[in-house]
Amino acid sequence: MAANEPGQPAVAAAVWSSDLPTPRVALAIGAHPDDVEFGAGATLAKWAAQGCAVHHLVLTDGSKGTWNPDADTAALVTTRQAEQREAARRLRGDAEDPIGVDSEPTGTVTFLGQVDGELDASLALRGEVARCIRTVQPDIVLAHDPWKRYRLHPDHRNAGLLACDGIVAARDPHFFREHGLAPHRPNTLLLWEADEPDHFEDVGAFVSVKLHALEAHTSQFESTMHAVSDDDLAAFRTRITARLGGLGATHGVTAAEVFKRIADL
Ligand SMILES: [Zn+2]
Repeated sequence: MAANEPGQPAVAAAVWSSDLPTPRVALAIGAHPDDVEFGAGATLAKWAAQGCAVHHLVLTDGSKGTWNPDADTAALVTTRQAEQREAARRLRGDAEDPIGVDSEPTGTVTFLGQVDGELDASLALRGEVARCIRTVQPDIVLAHDPWKRYRLHPDHRNAGLLACDGIVAARDPHFFREHGLAPHRPNTLLLWEADEPDHFEDVGAFVSVKLHALEAHTSQFESTMHAVSDDDLAAFRTRITARLGGLGATHGVTAAEVFKRIADL
């Protein structure tokens, strides 16, 4: 049969998969503090509740995350790191008041500290991402989709490329041998904000945890969440809930996060 007979779609519709088995370890790689919570917060909360260790790798320092031209950006970096640690704690369901930064029993938060807005998909940073993958040994890596069309923010594009390139480097033994770490091959990569999503996770019970984690990023209420009042914050919660509900309705569940799934890594 010819590829494009009248009435035949030129491209086959995506065959969707859903609800991966809970991984033992997940690593989420975001460009900025808060990207992981926006992209995959409910999925990570679900897995954490089922015993998965959830690790964060945040590539930039978030120093441009304000609309205030007079902001103290060094202070902002410190604030955003604290917010990210708290957001990760909320996703993982760890107890309040951890004893110390080394007492994160169900996951870690690593900051590479690159200047916000200037992230390069460089060989050196690829090595740092590979080092993290080899260290935490995730079954599943989650990251930005670098091939999302019409994406403007270069950090999101480059963070996605670094995650993909970092997986290739981490799995093959001749890359970055100087790390002295054993190669590690994750089994699945999930890309959020995907150009062509083909996988969903049913997160109906975890939308509230995602919102709770997002709201740890207090410094971002104005610039990212457009929330400078309680009413605004309520509207933000409604928007996120409606978005996940809409994605879920497509697949017959109350709420979903959707991804491009890449297996056979
Ligand atoms: Zn971002």
